[in-house]
Amino acid sequence: ISLANQIAAGEVIERPASVVKELVENCLDAQATEITVDIEQGGRRRIRVRDNGAGIPKEELALALSRHATSKISSLADLEAIQSLGFRGEALASISSVSRLTLTAKTEPQEQAWQAWVEGRDMQAELAPATHPEGTTVDVQDLFFNTPARRKFLRTDKTEFSHIDEVLRRIALARFDVRFNLVHNRKPVRQYHAVTKPEDYLQRVAQVCGKSFTDVAVGVEQQAGPVRLWGWVAPAHGCRHQADVQYFYVNGRMMRDRLLGHAVRQAYGETLGDERTPTFVLYLELPATDVDVNVHPAKHEVRFHQARQIHDFVLQVVRHALHNAAT
Ligand code: ADP
Ligand code: MG
Repeated sequence: ISLANQIAAGEVIERPASVVKELVENCLDAQATEITVDIEQGGRRRIRVRDNGAGIPKEELALALSRHATSKISSLADLEAIQSLGFRGEALASISSVSRLTLTAKTEPQEQAWQAWVEGRDMQAELAPATHPEGTTVDVQDLFFNTPARRKFLRTDKTEFSHIDEVLRRIALARFDVRFNLVHNRKPVRQYHAVTKPEDYLQRVAQVCGKSFTDVAVGVEQQAGPVRLWGWVAPAHGCRHQADVQYFYVNGRMMRDRLLGHAVRQAYGETLGDERTPTFVLYLELPATDVDVNVHPAKHEVRFHQARQIHDFVLQVVRHALHNAAT
């Protein structure tokens, strides 16, 4: 089982940033409104994610660490099966197989918080009482301590941290209503305050993308039947940081989609000349039945049932916004 978990971890847990992504997504699933990501040494020493969400009941703590604890996968010949299972329901088990992981949580009805951890290769979870407010903390120490090949792939602390920073930016732009704190080596590095009113969204965007973006960005907002595109595009780029501002969300999930990228680039090319780097934070919303977001979960690609129309809608709306901004 540990072997299977380690193989699964190899598939998706590439670096500290992948751990952060999985853990923060779990916090959001648990309805957290505040999430603190505490990093030491670029994540290789420690990744601790704390939330104020629903917590995990004592009797489910061990289970959360040992998902798919069947003897189904016992040999390398079954590797194919692991891949087709995907990563869902396996994040904690996988991470705990390549790190020293403790899980501490308290639910509302519980008097007492509990902590669970796994030791050794048999993956039997231990349980002990703990002190913790309502919510969950996952503490991941010494990532890849038992997989030297993986560990060798890690870059400098600075580089690993910048990947974590980017993961959190992407998530923060998807959830304006949640407060995020990012700490590196005990120094608070980012604080994204929660905003709930659409007129305040730009404050969050400024915190995440920098004022160099929001100072020049123009709002986008257009609806065509059930399809809506909103967000911000910047007609010119000033500083270094802004060149990285390329965020496109489809129904709340960040995508790097060829079709959407093409539409945005074409709009920039037609209005501003194609030497400019598009900088944008855009949200496309459409009925779930019109889009398949699970085509390539790792590649952030989508498939639209009406690809041509979506492309042209995005092109036309962004072109219009840039045109207005330029005149
Ligand atoms: P998945 O998220 O796909 O269910 P994970 O391995 O990421 O699989 O998490 C396993 C389970 O642990 C989750 O289904 C959830 O019940 C619980 N869990 C993990 N993190 C949290 C958290 N931050 N708050 C509440 N429950 C959590
Ligand atoms: Mg998960």
